[in-house]
Amino acid sequence: MQIKLLSDQLISQIAAGEVVERPASALKELLENSVDAGSTQIQVALQQGGTKLLKVTDNGHGIAKDELALALTRHATSKIQSLEDLEQVGSLGFRGEALASIASISRTVITSRQQAASHAWQISAEGAHGQPVSPAALDAGTIVEVHDLYFNTPARRKFLKTENTEFGHCEDAFTRIALSRSNIGFLLQHNGKAVMRLAANTPQQRITDVLGNEFASQSVWLDEESAGLRLWGMTASPTYQRHSRDTQYVFVNGRFVRDKLIAHAIKQAYQDVLHGDKHPAFVLFLELDPSLVDVNVHPAKTEVRFRESQAVHRFIFHSLHKALGKTSAEIQASQP
Ligand code: ADP
Ligand code: MG
Repeated sequence: MQIKLLSDQLISQIAAGEVVERPASALKELLENSVDAGSTQIQVALQQGGTKLLKVTDNGHGIAKDELALALTRHATSKIQSLEDLEQVGSLGFRGEALASIASISRTVITSRQQAASHAWQISAEGAHGQPVSPAALDAGTIVEVHDLYFNTPARRKFLKTENTEFGHCEDAFTRIALSRSNIGFLLQHNGKAVMRLAANTPQQRITDVLGNEFASQSVWLDEESAGLRLWGMTASPTYQRHSRDTQYVFVNGRFVRDKLIAHAIKQAYQDVLHGDKHPAFVLFLELDPSLVDVNVHPAKTEVRFRESQAVHRFIFHSLHKALGKTSAEIQASQP
Protein backbone atom coordinates (compact mmCIF):
# COMPACT_ATOMS: atom_id res chain seq x y z
CA MET A 1 0.00 0.00 0.00
CA GLN A 2 1.05 3.59 -0.61
CA ILE A 3 1.58 6.01 2.22
CA LYS A 4 -1.42 8.33 2.47
CA LEU A 5 -2.70 10.89 4.95
CA LEU A 6 -5.69 9.70 6.97
CA SER A 7 -8.95 11.64 6.69
CA ASP A 8 -9.87 13.96 9.55
CA GLN A 9 -12.80 11.75 10.46
CA LEU A 10 -10.63 8.64 10.68
CA ILE A 11 -8.05 10.50 12.80
CA SER A 12 -10.82 11.54 15.20
CA GLN A 13 -12.22 8.03 15.31
CA ILE A 14 -8.79 6.66 16.15
CA ALA A 15 -8.37 9.29 18.88
CA ALA A 16 -11.86 8.38 20.12
CA GLY A 17 -10.48 4.92 20.89
CA GLU A 18 -8.40 6.53 23.64
CA VAL A 19 -10.70 9.32 24.74
CA VAL A 20 -14.08 7.57 24.51
CA GLU A 21 -13.44 4.08 25.77
CA ARG A 22 -17.07 3.79 26.90
CA PRO A 23 -20.10 6.08 27.48
CA ALA A 24 -18.76 7.10 30.90
CA SER A 25 -15.60 8.50 29.29
CA ALA A 26 -17.71 10.73 27.02
CA LEU A 27 -19.74 11.84 30.06
CA LYS A 28 -16.54 12.73 31.92
CA GLU A 29 -15.42 14.94 29.03
CA LEU A 30 -18.79 16.70 28.81
CA LEU A 31 -18.87 17.29 32.57
CA GLU A 32 -15.32 18.68 32.50
CA ASN A 33 -16.34 21.11 29.77
CA SER A 34 -19.30 22.30 31.84
CA VAL A 35 -17.04 22.80 34.87
CA ASP A 36 -14.48 24.68 32.75
CA ALA A 37 -17.30 26.93 31.48
CA GLY A 38 -17.83 28.23 35.03
CA SER A 39 -21.24 26.58 35.49
CA THR A 40 -23.00 26.62 38.86
CA GLN A 41 -25.69 24.09 37.83
CA ILE A 42 -25.08 20.94 35.80
CA GLN A 43 -27.73 18.39 34.85
CA VAL A 44 -27.08 15.00 33.35
CA ALA A 45 -29.76 12.91 31.65
CA LEU A 46 -28.86 9.43 30.42
CA GLN A 47 -30.81 6.88 28.44
CA GLN A 48 -29.88 3.21 28.43
CA GLY A 49 -26.66 3.54 30.37
CA GLY A 50 -25.58 6.45 28.17
CA THR A 51 -25.47 4.39 24.99
CA LYS A 52 -28.74 5.79 23.64
CA LEU A 53 -28.29 9.30 25.00
CA LEU A 54 -25.87 11.34 27.10
CA LYS A 55 -27.21 14.83 27.69
CA VAL A 56 -25.43 17.46 29.76
CA THR A 57 -27.08 20.82 30.42
CA ASP A 58 -25.14 23.63 32.09
CA ASN A 59 -25.51 27.32 32.88
CA GLY A 60 -21.91 28.21 32.01
CA HIS A 61 -20.58 30.94 29.74
CA GLY A 62 -21.68 29.24 26.52
CA ILE A 63 -20.14 29.11 23.05
CA ALA A 64 -20.35 31.95 20.51
CA LYS A 65 -22.25 31.27 17.29
CA ASP A 66 -19.18 31.43 15.07
CA GLU A 67 -17.22 29.13 17.39
CA LEU A 68 -19.73 26.28 17.47
CA ALA A 69 -18.22 24.59 14.43
CA LEU A 70 -14.73 25.04 15.91
CA ALA A 71 -15.81 23.36 19.15
CA LEU A 72 -16.34 20.19 17.11
CA THR A 73 -13.00 20.55 15.31
CA ARG A 74 -9.94 18.59 16.38
CA HIS A 75 -7.21 20.50 18.27
CA ALA A 76 -9.45 23.53 18.66
CA THR A 77 -9.56 24.80 22.24
CA SER A 78 -10.25 28.06 24.05
CA LYS A 79 -8.22 26.93 27.06
CA ILE A 80 -4.54 27.14 26.07
CA GLN A 81 -2.56 28.80 23.32
CA SER A 82 1.05 28.17 24.20
CA LEU A 83 3.37 25.72 25.90
CA GLU A 84 3.54 28.14 28.84
CA ASP A 85 -0.24 27.99 29.18
CA LEU A 86 -0.02 24.19 29.16
CA GLU A 87 2.51 24.22 32.00
CA GLN A 88 0.24 26.41 34.12
CA VAL A 89 -3.04 24.86 33.01
CA GLY A 90 -5.86 25.23 35.54
CA SER A 91 -8.76 23.99 33.42
CA LEU A 92 -9.74 20.33 33.27
CA GLY A 93 -9.58 20.29 29.46
CA PHE A 94 -6.88 21.64 27.14
CA ARG A 95 -6.37 19.12 24.33
CA GLY A 96 -9.29 20.29 22.20
CA GLU A 97 -10.10 16.81 21.01
CA ALA A 98 -12.93 15.49 23.18
CA LEU A 99 -15.89 16.96 21.31
CA ALA A 100 -14.36 16.17 17.91
CA SER A 101 -13.74 12.57 18.99
CA ILE A 102 -17.21 12.16 20.46
CA ALA A 103 -18.88 13.73 17.42
CA SER A 104 -16.99 11.41 15.06
CA ILE A 105 -18.64 8.34 16.61
CA SER A 106 -22.12 9.60 17.50
CA ARG A 107 -24.95 11.92 16.53
CA THR A 108 -24.04 15.03 18.50
CA VAL A 109 -26.12 18.17 18.96
CA ILE A 110 -24.79 21.26 20.73
CA THR A 111 -27.11 24.10 21.67
CA SER A 112 -25.50 27.09 23.31
CA ARG A 113 -26.11 30.68 24.23
CA GLN A 114 -23.78 33.28 25.61
CA GLN A 115 -25.29 35.66 28.13
CA ALA A 116 -25.21 38.68 25.80
CA ALA A 117 -26.55 36.87 22.72
CA SER A 118 -30.15 37.55 21.73
CA HIS A 119 -30.86 33.82 21.32
CA ALA A 120 -29.15 30.43 21.22
CA TRP A 121 -27.52 28.63 18.28
CA GLN A 122 -27.39 24.96 17.52
CA ILE A 123 -25.06 22.70 15.55
CA SER A 124 -25.42 19.00 14.84
CA ALA A 125 -22.96 16.48 13.54
CA GLU A 126 -23.45 12.90 12.51
CA GLY A 127 -20.11 11.15 12.35
CA ALA A 128 -17.89 13.71 10.60
CA HIS A 129 -20.71 15.46 8.83
CA GLY A 130 -21.35 18.77 10.56
CA GLN A 131 -24.43 20.78 9.63
CA PRO A 132 -24.57 24.59 9.45
CA VAL A 133 -25.57 26.36 12.67
CA SER A 134 -29.24 27.23 13.12
CA PRO A 135 -31.08 29.45 15.62
CA ALA A 136 -32.47 27.76 18.74
CA ALA A 137 -34.13 28.61 22.04
CA LEU A 138 -32.22 28.34 25.35
CA ASP A 139 -31.35 30.48 28.36
CA ALA A 140 -27.66 31.18 28.84
CA GLY A 141 -25.57 28.02 28.92
CA THR A 142 -24.95 24.91 26.89
CA ILE A 143 -26.67 21.61 26.17
CA VAL A 144 -24.62 18.84 24.62
CA GLU A 145 -26.56 15.79 23.46
CA VAL A 146 -24.71 12.68 22.37
CA HIS A 147 -27.06 10.22 20.70
CA ASP A 148 -26.26 6.66 19.65
CA LEU A 149 -22.63 6.51 20.69
CA TYR A 150 -20.62 4.12 18.45
CA PHE A 151 -23.44 4.02 15.84
CA ASN A 152 -20.82 4.02 13.06
CA THR A 153 -18.15 1.93 14.84
CA PRO A 154 -19.72 -1.55 15.23
CA ALA A 155 -16.48 -3.08 16.56
CA ARG A 156 -16.58 -0.67 19.51
CA ARG A 157 -20.27 -1.19 20.07
CA LYS A 158 -19.61 -4.88 20.65
CA PHE A 159 -17.47 -4.06 23.68
CA LEU A 160 -20.32 -2.34 25.48
CA LYS A 161 -21.42 -4.13 28.63
CA THR A 162 -24.96 -4.31 29.99
CA GLU A 163 -26.99 -1.15 30.52
CA ASN A 164 -26.50 -1.45 34.29
CA THR A 165 -22.74 -1.79 34.00
CA GLU A 166 -22.41 1.17 31.63
CA PHE A 167 -24.69 3.24 33.87
CA GLY A 168 -22.54 2.29 36.88
CA HIS A 169 -19.46 3.65 35.13
CA CYS A 170 -21.36 6.85 34.26
CA GLU A 171 -22.39 7.19 37.89
CA ASP A 172 -18.72 6.85 38.92
CA ALA A 173 -17.68 9.58 36.48
CA PHE A 174 -20.48 11.81 37.79
CA THR A 175 -19.54 11.10 41.42
CA ARG A 176 -15.90 12.05 40.90
CA ILE A 177 -16.77 15.40 39.37
CA ALA A 178 -19.48 16.03 42.00
CA LEU A 179 -17.03 15.32 44.86
CA SER A 180 -14.48 17.70 43.42
CA ARG A 181 -16.85 20.67 42.82
CA SER A 182 -19.03 21.14 45.89
CA ASN A 183 -19.85 24.71 44.82
CA ILE A 184 -21.78 23.37 41.80
CA GLY A 185 -25.31 21.93 42.02
CA PHE A 186 -25.76 18.62 40.20
CA LEU A 187 -28.58 16.40 39.01
CA LEU A 188 -28.23 12.91 37.56
CA GLN A 189 -31.14 11.23 35.78
CA HIS A 190 -31.28 7.79 34.20
CA ASN A 191 -34.12 6.71 31.92
CA GLY A 192 -36.21 9.63 33.14
CA LYS A 193 -35.71 9.02 36.88
CA ALA A 194 -33.67 11.22 39.23
CA VAL A 195 -30.79 9.19 40.70
CA MET A 196 -28.76 11.84 42.52
CA ARG A 197 -29.56 15.44 43.33
CA LEU A 198 -26.90 17.56 44.98
CA ALA A 199 -27.29 21.15 46.14
CA ALA A 200 -24.24 23.41 46.11
CA ASN A 201 -22.61 23.09 49.52
CA THR A 202 -19.41 22.99 51.54
CA PRO A 203 -16.87 20.30 50.61
CA GLN A 204 -17.62 18.45 53.89
CA GLN A 205 -21.35 18.38 53.23
CA ARG A 206 -20.85 17.36 49.59
CA ILE A 207 -18.68 14.40 50.61
CA THR A 208 -21.34 13.41 53.16
CA ASP A 209 -24.15 13.79 50.62
CA VAL A 210 -22.34 11.63 48.07
CA LEU A 211 -20.71 8.96 50.27
CA GLY A 212 -23.18 8.83 53.13
CA ASN A 213 -23.24 9.46 56.86
CA GLU A 214 -21.63 6.18 57.76
CA PHE A 215 -18.42 7.17 56.01
CA ALA A 216 -18.53 10.79 57.17
CA SER A 217 -19.19 9.99 60.83
CA GLN A 218 -16.23 7.62 60.96
CA SER A 219 -13.81 9.95 59.21
CA VAL A 220 -11.64 12.87 60.23
CA TRP A 221 -11.26 16.10 58.37
CA LEU A 222 -7.70 17.05 57.60
CA ASP A 223 -6.10 20.12 56.11
CA GLU A 224 -2.30 20.23 56.08
CA GLU A 225 0.07 22.57 54.35
CA SER A 226 3.81 22.50 53.91
CA ALA A 227 6.28 23.97 51.43
CA GLY A 228 3.70 24.81 48.77
CA LEU A 229 1.82 21.51 49.13
CA ARG A 230 -1.66 21.26 50.61
CA LEU A 231 -3.60 18.11 51.41
CA TRP A 232 -7.19 18.30 52.60
CA GLY A 233 -10.26 16.13 52.70
CA MET A 234 -11.76 13.29 54.70
CA THR A 235 -10.08 10.08 55.64
CA ALA A 236 -11.77 7.20 57.41
CA SER A 237 -10.69 5.85 60.74
CA PRO A 238 -9.32 2.29 60.60
CA THR A 239 -12.58 1.09 62.17
CA TYR A 240 -14.39 1.93 58.94
CA GLN A 241 -13.21 -1.13 57.11
CA ARG A 242 -13.84 -1.90 53.50
CA HIS A 243 -13.28 -5.09 51.60
CA SER A 244 -12.98 -3.23 48.33
CA ARG A 245 -11.34 -0.07 47.07
CA ASP A 246 -14.66 1.56 46.20
CA THR A 247 -14.29 4.55 48.52
CA GLN A 248 -10.91 5.85 47.45
CA TYR A 249 -10.77 9.20 45.73
CA VAL A 250 -7.67 11.27 45.08
CA PHE A 251 -7.79 14.62 43.31
CA VAL A 252 -4.76 16.59 42.20
CA ASN A 253 -5.55 20.26 41.63
CA GLY A 254 -9.24 19.37 41.39
CA ARG A 255 -8.75 16.55 38.90
CA PHE A 256 -9.52 12.91 39.77
CA VAL A 257 -6.37 10.82 39.30
CA ARG A 258 -5.08 7.32 39.84
CA ASP A 259 -1.53 7.62 40.96
CA LYS A 260 0.71 4.83 42.25
CA LEU A 261 2.96 7.16 44.20
CA ILE A 262 0.05 8.70 46.10
CA ALA A 263 -1.63 5.31 46.60
CA HIS A 264 1.63 4.01 48.06
CA ALA A 265 2.00 6.92 50.48
CA ILE A 266 -1.59 6.43 51.69
CA LYS A 267 -1.13 2.70 52.10
CA GLN A 268 1.99 3.28 54.15
CA ALA A 269 0.23 5.77 56.40
CA TYR A 270 -2.49 3.20 57.08
CA GLN A 271 -0.08 0.29 57.45
CA ASP A 272 0.16 0.35 61.24
CA VAL A 273 -3.56 0.72 61.80
CA LEU A 274 -5.22 -1.38 59.13
CA HIS A 275 -4.70 -5.09 58.88
CA GLY A 276 -5.29 -8.00 56.56
CA ASP A 277 -7.22 -7.55 53.37
CA LYS A 278 -8.93 -4.36 54.53
CA HIS A 279 -8.83 -1.21 52.44
CA PRO A 280 -8.81 2.37 53.67
CA ALA A 281 -11.49 4.84 52.58
CA PHE A 282 -10.71 8.46 51.76
CA VAL A 283 -11.48 11.54 49.69
CA LEU A 284 -8.28 13.54 49.41
CA PHE A 285 -7.41 16.70 47.55
CA LEU A 286 -3.77 17.50 46.85
CA GLU A 287 -3.02 21.02 45.71
CA LEU A 288 0.27 22.30 44.39
CA ASP A 289 1.65 24.74 41.85
CA PRO A 290 0.46 23.49 38.41
CA SER A 291 3.99 23.81 37.03
CA LEU A 292 5.12 21.08 39.48
CA VAL A 293 2.78 18.46 38.06
CA ASP A 294 2.40 17.24 34.49
CA VAL A 295 -1.18 16.29 33.61
CA ASN A 296 -0.46 15.76 29.94
CA VAL A 297 0.62 12.14 30.35
CA HIS A 298 -2.35 10.36 28.79
CA PRO A 299 -5.38 11.54 26.77
CA ALA A 300 -7.80 10.59 29.57
CA LYS A 301 -5.70 12.74 31.97
CA THR A 302 -6.16 10.45 34.97
CA GLU A 303 -2.39 10.01 35.22
CA VAL A 304 -0.03 12.66 36.47
CA ARG A 305 3.70 13.06 36.94
CA PHE A 306 5.20 15.06 39.78
CA ARG A 307 8.35 17.12 39.40
CA GLU A 308 9.36 16.27 42.97
CA SER A 309 7.72 12.96 43.60
CA GLN A 310 9.64 12.11 46.78
CA ALA A 311 8.58 15.34 48.46
CA VAL A 312 4.95 14.65 47.49
CA HIS A 313 5.17 11.11 48.85
CA ARG A 314 6.65 12.26 52.18
CA PHE A 315 4.11 15.05 52.54
CA ILE A 316 1.12 12.80 51.97
CA PHE A 317 2.44 10.12 54.27
CA HIS A 318 3.13 12.57 57.12
CA SER A 319 -0.16 14.45 56.74
CA LEU A 320 -2.21 11.25 56.82
CA HIS A 321 -0.15 9.68 59.56
CA LYS A 322 -0.82 12.73 61.72
CA ALA A 323 -4.56 12.71 60.90
CA LEU A 324 -4.85 9.00 61.60
CA GLY A 325 -3.12 9.41 64.94
CA LYS A 326 -6.04 11.62 65.88
CA THR A 327 -8.87 9.61 64.36
CA SER A 328 -9.70 7.09 67.05
CA ALA A 329 -9.53 9.63 69.86
CA GLU A 330 -11.59 12.24 68.02
CA ILE A 331 -14.21 9.86 66.77
CA GLN A 332 -14.70 8.37 70.22
CA ALA A 333 -15.01 11.85 71.70
CA SER A 334 -17.66 12.83 69.17
CA GLN A 335 -19.84 9.78 69.88
CA PRO A 336 -22.91 10.69 71.94
P1 ADP B 1 -11.04 21.15 25.46
O1 ADP B 1 -11.96 20.99 26.61
O2 ADP B 1 -9.79 20.33 25.62
O3 ADP B 1 -10.77 22.58 25.10
P2 ADP B 1 -13.21 19.99 23.91
O4 ADP B 1 -13.24 19.29 22.62
O5 ADP B 1 -13.71 19.27 25.11
O6 ADP B 1 -11.74 20.49 24.15
O7 ADP B 1 -14.05 21.34 23.75
C1 ADP B 1 -13.68 22.27 22.73
C2 ADP B 1 -14.06 23.70 23.10
O8 ADP B 1 -15.48 23.83 23.08
C3 ADP B 1 -13.63 24.12 24.49
O9 ADP B 1 -12.30 24.62 24.49
C4 ADP B 1 -14.66 25.20 24.83
O10 ADP B 1 -14.25 26.45 24.31
C5 ADP B 1 -15.89 24.77 24.07
N1 ADP B 1 -16.88 24.07 24.95
C6 ADP B 1 -17.13 22.74 25.02
N2 ADP B 1 -18.12 22.46 25.91
C7 ADP B 1 -18.51 23.64 26.43
C8 ADP B 1 -19.50 24.03 27.41
N3 ADP B 1 -20.27 23.14 28.03
N4 ADP B 1 -19.61 25.37 27.67
C9 ADP B 1 -18.84 26.30 27.05
N5 ADP B 1 -17.90 25.99 26.13
C10 ADP B 1 -17.72 24.68 25.81
MG1 MG C 1 -12.95 19.27 27.10
